[in-house]
Amino acid sequence: MTTSRKLVETSLKREPVERIPFFPPFQGYWALRNENITTIDSINHPDLSAQAQLKNVGPCCFDTVEVLWDWLFLVEALGCQVKIPEYGTIATANNIVNEPSDIDKLELPNLDIFYRYSSAKKTAHILSEKLGKTHYLVASMPGPFTLAGELRGVESMLLDSLMDPSFVDDLLKKSTELDQEAIEYVCEWDIDAVLICDPTTSGDLMSPEDFIRFSKAHLKEAGDMIRKTGKEFVIHMCGDTSDRLNDIADTGCIAFSCDKQVDVGKAVESMKNRMAIIGNIDPAGIIFAGTPDGVRQETRRLMKTGGTTGFLMGAGCDIPVGSKFECVKAIGDTLNGV
Ligand SMILES: [Zn+2]
Repeated sequence: MTTSRKLVETSLKREPVERIPFFPPFQGYWALRNENITTIDSINHPDLSAQAQLKNVGPCCFDTVEVLWDWLFLVEALGCQVKIPEYGTIATANNIVNEPSDIDKLELPNLDIFYRYSSAKKTAHILSEKLGKTHYLVASMPGPFTLAGELRGVESMLLDSLMDPSFVDDLLKKSTELDQEAIEYVCEWDIDAVLICDPTTSGDLMSPEDFIRFSKAHLKEAGDMIRKTGKEFVIHMCGDTSDRLNDIADTGCIAFSCDKQVDVGKAVESMKNRMAIIGNIDPAGIIFAGTPDGVRQETRRLMKTGGTTGFLMGAGCDIPVGSKFECVKAIGDTLNGV
């Protein structure tokens, strides 16, 4: 029998599959909330955190499993203060790059003794022992531009890009190095791919010209590091990225997870010789606020448009924390003809 893992690998290579795989792409925080495990408890109890994922993987028919979802751990490791919400992603509370001279002060500590990293590593280890042979495992990490935005503040950095572009260039050079160092740590885990999330380069925040000017080369460098370790490189960006798919493919990623605004049929067709497409059920409108029937309908529509070659089914962004279990399960059921 074809395993989930094999199915995902075949799709990522853009070879035809008998069933479109389910690549969520971000189920971690959603599954924790589903099992009533708060963000801080998930860090304090890596075993509970892994159990919460395992409870949802089978029933939802996830073929890919996100084993690292605390994707911004690096921000606190580098010295920012953070705000840990009851559920969901940990937010940055202050920025530590306020002037160009702050860049040189940035230094990656030994991550093995940093609480969020060591907890995430334990969780991922439990998950890879249970699922590594059958499922395709991914770790989410920030892209260099997004990381720089957390350190500097997104608004300040976007303003700098107009007023003082060399400041941004220096910061990006440094954030790329730090990102690469952290990626090296994570690539030692038993995972298949690193999923680089770059929400700050969203198609809604940044023009294609600025993406090429400020982000593309750094994203490629992060990807080169991932590929050098033998892992696969996948990218997620929010917003409408239809106008820069070729630039994204130039980074060497094997697949791109796109947001709901992208026309999946057109993306799969235009990228058929370049990269696979993962997407893109509207997370808020259909998965969170919708009904299982609505999810089924949208999943069927995307199955038809995306097709069975070079396309993997997923949400357009995070599966929103608090989305009904039945709505997420409806995606897997529909893909499996249930
Ligand atoms: Zn997104």
